[in-house]
Amino acid sequence: MIDQWYLPRAGEAARSGGSRPESADAEKLGLDVWRELPREQMPPWPDAARVADVCAVLDQVPSIVAPYEVDQLADRLALACEGRAFVLIGGDCAETFVDNTERHLLANARTLLQMAVVLTYGASVPVVKIGRFAGQYTKPRSSPTDALGLPAYRGDMINSLEPDAAARAADPHRMVRAYANAAAALNMMRAYLGGGMADLHAVHDWNKDFVRISAAGERYEAIAREIDRALAFIRACGMTEEEALRSVTLYSSHEALALEYERSLARIVGDRAYGLSGHFLWVGERTRQLDHAHVDFVSRLSNPIGVKIGPTTTPAAARELCAKLNPHNIPGRLTLISRMGNHRVREVLPAIVDEVTVAGHKVVWQCDPMHGNTQESSNGYKTRHFDRIVDEVLGYFEVHRARGTHPGGLHVELTGEDVTECLGGAQAIEDGDLPGRYETACDPRLNTQQSLELAFLVAEMLRG
Ligand code: PEP
Ligand code: MN
Repeated sequence: MIDQWYLPRAGEAARSGGSRPESADAEKLGLDVWRELPREQMPPWPDAARVADVCAVLDQVPSIVAPYEVDQLADRLALACEGRAFVLIGGDCAETFVDNTERHLLANARTLLQMAVVLTYGASVPVVKIGRFAGQYTKPRSSPTDALGLPAYRGDMINSLEPDAAARAADPHRMVRAYANAAAALNMMRAYLGGGMADLHAVHDWNKDFVRISAAGERYEAIAREIDRALAFIRACGMTEEEALRSVTLYSSHEALALEYERSLARIVGDRAYGLSGHFLWVGERTRQLDHAHVDFVSRLSNPIGVKIGPTTTPAAARELCAKLNPHNIPGRLTLISRMGNHRVREVLPAIVDEVTVAGHKVVWQCDPMHGNTQESSNGYKTRHFDRIVDEVLGYFEVHRARGTHPGGLHVELTGEDVTECLGGAQAIEDGDLPGRYETACDPRLNTQQSLELAFLVAEMLRG
């Protein structure tokens, strides 16, 4: 039963046609302080009145996720903070409205679940599964214009990928489309996951198919066989109908970049604010300034929060983020997602981990081995090499092993489709193969096979 505690407040102001329903409480919680602060990556909205109209609609819609789910995820992340769970986050770099289809969502989820089974075996602890989906519709950009001189694509919530000046104009109404797409995606995923899609035996059978077809399959046979034996043991013990073997919870996540959208989908419950656009919200490398809008806004939410930290992050900056975003030092509240690049992780991450640990801050340490390893191929594609991705994960494990801290999870960009966006892997994708199926709206993703290979390699690392 859902406790009273979890029901958002109804307000007087809404009925009398005033501003937001819970404006007095919102002010107490400081939910609008960000509006007065400097803000990076501001969407170039054409006019404030249209943004306000759209937000007035989104203020009143049913939320995408529920507060109790957000709390449940926070509890699971607390286990990861204490070394008793591992977190897997994965999905598209940028979700698009056209690709928000059953086929695409199910393929991505299936790949994530397949990886999770392998990682569960490797880590011998529960794997918390989080998709980059149902809201990953905004992108921070390093330049306001693209190679063609057009305004940069900033994600389907803001403008269109189509290379045309009019289509690239930011359109506030896209926030409503993003909301509708996110709601539909999560609704469909909940239905499939509750209906047997996540059955452990079936997921393992898919993995066996992968081992059979992969050119590197032989290397992974041993682990696949061991998982087989473990499942046979479970079956022999009569545990065939257990709920835990048949269903999983897949949480949703996205970058909290378009603060107008995030603010509109925030709800006040009791004396706390929840960002109910998704379960896990993160702040990107480009918007993590301590006293700026994004960090301020998420600091006011009860959700578990992530922050990307790149190679220029100083140990002091990491410590200050912990103090600001998790002042009560709640385990699971804050995840620091390092994305250093394979050449820098061994040099930069140690001092950060030491500083945060010595200061006593509780965090989940997660590795994003994608964003520090982006390169341009000889034929002009934005790509990443599988070997560098694996090496960054290896470096991250080395750093944590050396200090006894818990390597708490992985954050990857992947798709369950057979795309050719990242180089290498057992399929040995080369520069010349990239044009074949290069379909991402933004950064290059691991394809199905590369994702599973990574999971098997990480399982080997986890087992030492
Ligand atoms: C991303 O996760 O797609 C992203 C833009 O990451 P970062 O903020 O680490 O660059
Ligand atoms: Mn990306």
